[in-house]
This record gives sequence, C-alpha cells and structure tokens, in this order.
Amino acid sequence: MTDSNLTEALKDMAFELGADFIGIADRSSFEKSEYTGNKPQDVMKDLQSVIILGVSVPRGAFETLPKGRGEYTNTLMAATATLRIIAFQLAKRIEKEGYMATIAPSEGSEYGYWYADRETLKGDLSFKYAAYQAGIGNFGMNHLLITKDFGPKVRMTGILTDAPLDTEEKAELPLVNDACSKCLKCIDICPVDALTEEGVIHREKCAEYMFNELGGLRCGLCIKVCPLNQF
Ligand code: SF4
Ligand code: SF4
Repeated sequence: MTDSNLTEALKDMAFELGADFIGIADRSSFEKSEYTGNKPQDVMKDLQSVIILGVSVPRGAFETLPKGRGEYTNTLMAATATLRIIAFQLAKRIEKEGYMATIAPSEGSEYGYWYADRETLKGDLSFKYAAYQAGIGNFGMNHLLITKDFGPKVRMTGILTDAPLDTEEKAELPLVNDACSKCLKCIDICPVDALTEEGVIHREKCAEYMFNELGGLRCGLCIKVCPLNQF
C-alpha cells in the first residue's frame, strides 16, 4: 500500500520550495530489461521509490554559449544547489514519517564525474531513466531527458527512499523522442563526435573535452541547439 498523503505533501512542498517538476519512479522501474544503468536498490536495500525533482535552467545560459561557458557552468551549479536544498527538506520530511531518505548525487555536480563509476562514467542510478519512468519526458539523441515542459534545458536530482509513494498513471512515451529522427542537430554540433546517429554516446569523449580541454567548464552545445523547448 502506498502512502498517498505523504506523496501529496512532498509534491506540494517541492513546488513551494521552487521545483518546476517532480515525479516518482518505483523500485520495479530499475528492473526492466531496457534499463542499463546502475540500480539504486544496490545503494538502499529496501528502496521503494525514487523521487525526481527538477528545475528549468534560464535560457540565457544556453544562448550565450560557447563564449559564456563560465556563466553557463555557474548557472548549472546554481540549479544544482537549488535542487539540493529542496531535496534536503523533502528528505527530512520523509524521515519525520518514519521512513529513510538520502539524496543521490548529480553526475554533473561541481565535482564533475567524481561520483560516477570511473570506468563507465555512470552514476548510482540514471535520473533520466527514473524521470522517463515517472512520465516527465523521454530521451533525445543528445542522451538527455527531453521534458514535456522545458525540453532538455533542465537540471535534476533524485531522492532514494524506502517510503512507498504513489506513482501516477501516465501515457506511455516512446523511449526516444519522435522529433529526433528528422533533426540530429546535437550530433552535428558536438565538437568531439561524442554522439552518433546510431544512438550511442561516447561518454569518455564528452568528459575528456569538458574536464581536460575546457578545464571543468561545461560544454552544453548539444542542449543549446535542441529545438525542443517543449513537446
Ligand atoms: S556536452 Fe558538448 S561534448 Fe558533450 S556530448 Fe554535448 S556537444 Fe558533445
Ligand atoms: S537536437 Fe534534435 S536530435 Fe538532438 S535531442 Fe534535440 S531534437 Fe533530438
């Protein structure tokens, strides 16, 4: 049985604190055969739910790329900081009800790929897949989440909890956004050919470019060119 009252309270709280979207994926989402990421239940044994929280990122951060890489990186970090504060308050609220909660690190934190597995460059779970399962959006050829309301111009974080929260009935979205097959702009713009038409991402090329060539500043060109601000 799910805790509907807590689910509603967490959603209200998230919006009051400044989140632009929130969704919930349950434990079984990460047991599907199409999921190739790490499992959050390997971190929290009794995990029942993953809460995905997100904010949209101001348009100016993208429009000013590539010259404004410093501003872009700083704006992303501000979004991450905002989400951490919201997530912290939600985690405390969950624990007031007697459950357990912890906040999963974002891959693109100020520590770069610090939290990711050094070989696969994958985090402890895919926020993007969790968000897909929660009905927030689907994937683009840029391997980012294309959200319904803000396209790929978002930042997300996730809370792992053993609280059994409500997952909404949602329309099944295709895994990859339909618009991508006629576009491919993100593949063309990538300076290091990290994205391919076959849908592969070479994470190491992207990481090498940002953390070595750009000295830790973020690139963001595959988001800037994406025409999907919403769908
Ligand atoms: S962030 Fe830049 S380097 Fe990485 S995939 Fe996108 S365009 Fe390529
Ligand atoms: S730039 Fe084009 S191909 Fe790439 S994610 Fe956006 S819509 Fe899809």
